[in-house]
Amino acid sequence: MSRYTGPVCRLCRAEGTKLFLKGDRCYTEKCAIARRNNKPGQHGARRGKESEYGLRLREKQKLRRFYCMNESQFRRFYTMATKMPGQTGHNFLQLLERRLDNVVYRMGLGVSRRQARQIVRHGHVLVNGRKVDIPSYLVKAGDKIEISEKSRDLMVIKENAEAASVRTLPAWLEFDVERMEGRVVSLPTRDQIEVPVTEQLVVEFYAR
Ligand code: SF4
Repeated sequence: MSRYTGPVCRLCRAEGTKLFLKGDRCYTEKCAIARRNNKPGQHGARRGKESEYGLRLREKQKLRRFYCMNESQFRRFYTMATKMPGQTGHNFLQLLERRLDNVVYRMGLGVSRRQARQIVRHGHVLVNGRKVDIPSYLVKAGDKIEISEKSRDLMVIKENAEAASVRTLPAWLEFDVERMEGRVVSLPTRDQIEVPVTEQLVVEFYAR
């Protein structure tokens, strides 16, 4: 499946919820969901009730778009979750949260997951002292995440980190803006993962 390159606010409007795909704008009144929360397209405002299948499909799409993944990557993560002990839905969310691009975003180094992914891909991030440029890399509890020495003065990273220093980090992460380094304190539990979905519906979609 090819990568979506159209307007990202349209994706939020299609799902009827904020997916936070556009950085700071998502927190302002310019957000498309705040201005007109109806489905895109000519008949968007008139769409009727979803079927049971449609409901599960929308929930799956919402989660996939929230993490900016294509279907094959997303499905691969789901398959991994089914092979782990415990609840598949919780495992799935935990795996998605453990992605390095998501961790960089949660630490505030990228204004959106897309930007965080670029920061990882361009080799600005070290995990336990070694460069990791794979956005889907899964972090572990205790991992040290830092911006490489030569990238610390990059304006975009500095500005993002300073802006994020006033925000609350998820309890499973630590980040020191001065040192540009952080740590994965523990793996996230379900109540520490803020996502606008009911993961059980996503599990039911794939298990059908
Ligand atoms: Fe656009 Fe962000 Fe609002 Fe979504 S949350 S509609 S990406 S501004």
